[in-house]
Amino acid sequence: MPRAKTSTFGPDGWTSGFEDRVDFGEESRECAQVDNRELLKAVAITLEDEGVECHWETFISDDAFLDAGIIVDCRGMGAKGDWPNLRGVRGEIVRFHAPELELHHMVRLLHPRYPVYIAPRAEGRLVVGATSIECDDRSTVSVRGALELLTSAYSVLPALAEARILEFSTQVRPVLPDICPHVGSIVSATRCTSTGFIVMGSY
Ligand SMILES: Cc1cc2nc3c(=O)[nH]c(=O)nc-3n(C[C@H](O)[C@H](O)[C@H](O)COP(=O)(O)OP(=O)(O)OC[C@H]3O[C@@H](n4cnc5c(N)ncnc54)[C@H](O)[C@@H]3O)c2cc1C
Repeated sequence: MPRAKTSTFGPDGWTSGFEDRVDFGEESRECAQVDNRELLKAVAITLEDEGVECHWETFISDDAFLDAGIIVDCRGMGAKGDWPNLRGVRGEIVRFHAPELELHHMVRLLHPRYPVYIAPRAEGRLVVGATSIECDDRSTVSVRGALELLTSAYSVLPALAEARILEFSTQVRPVLPDICPHVGSIVSATRCTSTGFIVMGSY
């Protein structure tokens, strides 16, 4: 994905003008998916260009929020102290390098147990995800998870047999009982929380 085109992140927020500020490209628009890692890189570059002070890898505890006009708390499972009903749903994915395989759209397997998707990425890479397991365990991928992902992907695209595995990874999705995302003030008027995004809405 090309870097963000932006010049301003105005007070009208991300939703109204975000598409004008980040160039998703025709292909992403058509198959409704973005490369999340590239998107986050583009956002980081844009923030830097705009002179926004960023503190990466900085742990914020529940009782040590910074003094700021408005705080947006998007700590995922890290905000469990404010959201006692928040639970984790573990997800595992696998990334491949398969430059000989030309996939231009995401492929989704409609299966009751293994609803995996295969999404193309730049430079011959592919991502296959994801398992959904009701727990907040972030340990490395299990044998079952790896088998499910690899077998499902291979059954859809046998040409993956010669692909090279680049990475297995695990993360935990923050989920609320109604399975809906929540954005708003629950702690104080100046602290906006954003959580429950079991999917970001874009693959
Ligand atoms: C394996 C997997 C595959 C997925 N695939 C898709 C997909 O294809 N499409 C889709 O739309 N969605 C997908 N999702 C869901 C998507 O990733 C989630 O919607 C998203 O991760 C939730 O976003 P979030 O920013 O709210 O929380 P997180 O992604 O959990 O981000 C929270 C961040 O806050 C940080 N943090 C936590 N506590 C603290 C603290 N105390 N101080 C400072 N920082 C803290 C964490 O380190 C983390 O970086 C997937 C999720 C997983 C796990």
